[in-house]
Amino acid sequence: MAPATVAAAAGGKASSASGAERCFQDKDKPAGVRNSNIIAAKAVADAVRTSLGPRGMDKMIQSANGDVTITNDGATILNQMSVIHPTAKMLVDLSKAQDIEAGDGTTTVVVTAGALLDAAQTLLSKGIHPTKISDSFQRAATEAENILEKMSSPVDLSNDELLVKMATTSLNSKVVSQHSWLLAPMAVNAVKKIIDPAKDTNVNLNMIKIIKKLGETVEESELIEGALIDQKTMGRGGPTRVEKAKIGLIQFQLSAPKTDIENQVIISDYTQMDRALKEERQYLLNICKQIKSAGCNVLLIQKSILRDAVSEMALHFLAKLKIMVVKDIERDDIEFYSKILGCRPVASLDHFVAESLGSADLAEEISTGGDSKVIKVTGVQNPGQAVSILLRGSNKLVLEEADRSLHDALCVIRCLVKKKALLPGGGAPEMEVAVQLRQLAQERSGAEQYCWRAFADALELIPFTLAENAGLSPIHTVTELRTQHANGHSDFGINVRKGYVTDMREEAVLQPLLVSSSAIKQAAECVRSILKIDDIVMAVR
Ligand code: ADP
Ligand code: MG
Repeated sequence: MAPATVAAAAGGKASSASGAERCFQDKDKPAGVRNSNIIAAKAVADAVRTSLGPRGMDKMIQSANGDVTITNDGATILNQMSVIHPTAKMLVDLSKAQDIEAGDGTTTVVVTAGALLDAAQTLLSKGIHPTKISDSFQRAATEAENILEKMSSPVDLSNDELLVKMATTSLNSKVVSQHSWLLAPMAVNAVKKIIDPAKDTNVNLNMIKIIKKLGETVEESELIEGALIDQKTMGRGGPTRVEKAKIGLIQFQLSAPKTDIENQVIISDYTQMDRALKEERQYLLNICKQIKSAGCNVLLIQKSILRDAVSEMALHFLAKLKIMVVKDIERDDIEFYSKILGCRPVASLDHFVAESLGSADLAEEISTGGDSKVIKVTGVQNPGQAVSILLRGSNKLVLEEADRSLHDALCVIRCLVKKKALLPGGGAPEMEVAVQLRQLAQERSGAEQYCWRAFADALELIPFTLAENAGLSPIHTVTELRTQHANGHSDFGINVRKGYVTDMREEAVLQPLLVSSSAIKQAAECVRSILKIDDIVMAVR
């Protein structure tokens, strides 16, 4: 609709103005562009609105090649959605940004941005300049962060019960919510294992490796005492169970060397051929013996793209020497394995010495059903800060979603390590900010006051949507919530299970401060940048 108006406006002026003037006098064009941008972005926000909250719906996403994903996670839905409009893509990026910053609240951030865009559209139609709206929104967002900070309460990382409650809130809204009794404590324990609560201010989630295996049910998932390696042994008659394991992690290859450039060796008689083969045998045997003499009996080999990480002949020798071989360890996982197994990655044979090996009581290959196997290492002597989690699920869709949900729960705990403060959930933070901002707006003058009010009203869309998705009357619930907050009950939120407004701290619906404050901040920032766009220019390339 918007482009048509633009064209009509431009056409109308053509009769009265010459070409060059017309371009500059076309005041309607920026408005038209802005309007169509807002419409496109709002469409994206509307698409995920119904999946907000514990009673939100899930989406089934079908990809071009027929793969199906079932999810409730805003970032996943948007990531897989085919979005063409450039502004709509900004909302996709917005949820990605929230995913990186906080990990949870990815639906909230997009719904908030949609509501703010709606507010901006109304303000624009009142004739307020986009720059004015943008600036006011920025100030309102900063104030909102202050309000959230004031209403938050500190978290003690040694209080496991509290941490579990927060992980549970995040899992509540997922497909796998009925397993939150297992997954929430698992997330808390996993994070606690890899941090030092006293001084760490961030968590490296790469040090928590979730290994997904089809089969059994989610309830069979476990946090592994020791380490899991998502590979099978190479077999070839080699051991699949090693007691008193000495684990080596190598980054060089056990195969005949190759030159960097394309080459050919021309052999003219069989004695030369014999010599070449013997040479190769000798070369490999030497390496294998050296590995054995360092005391190693479990060997992990990094994946190689240049040449075979390990050749058949080397495998044969290693099997003879009773060394368990695991190949194709991803380069990105080297740090993780070296930490969890307490060994040092070795890049050249000369440095392969006994000190670089990790020790464990037992390394064994275990079957996880069907053809899939993992290697479990128990009794690791000096493990670093890393943990493995074995996640089970009876079908692929559940397993994938369990993985994403567990990731969200881990992120929630990471947020608490980053910023040790919590807020009540269920729409309480958004409503409190709305009520307080509306009061503060009265001290502002002119258009700014309008903008602040609009900003405050827009935030109420979160409790509104939570109520709507839970099948409650949204208007009734939101007005009641507003009254409670106006009366100073800042912890009141929507209890979607019982269907009325209550104190969320008593209900143990708690979430990290960082999730809510980052959602408001990032949404406002995204809306501001959309407002500032007044034209879309096609690039030549
Ligand atoms: P997001 O992807 O943004 O995290 P969710 O679907 O996880 O979206 O929903 C999060 C919202 O649901 C938050 O506003 C949170 O406060 C609310 N919420 C979670 N659990 C409950 C609950 N038991 N009662 C009420 N609200 C809840
Ligand atoms: Mg969530």
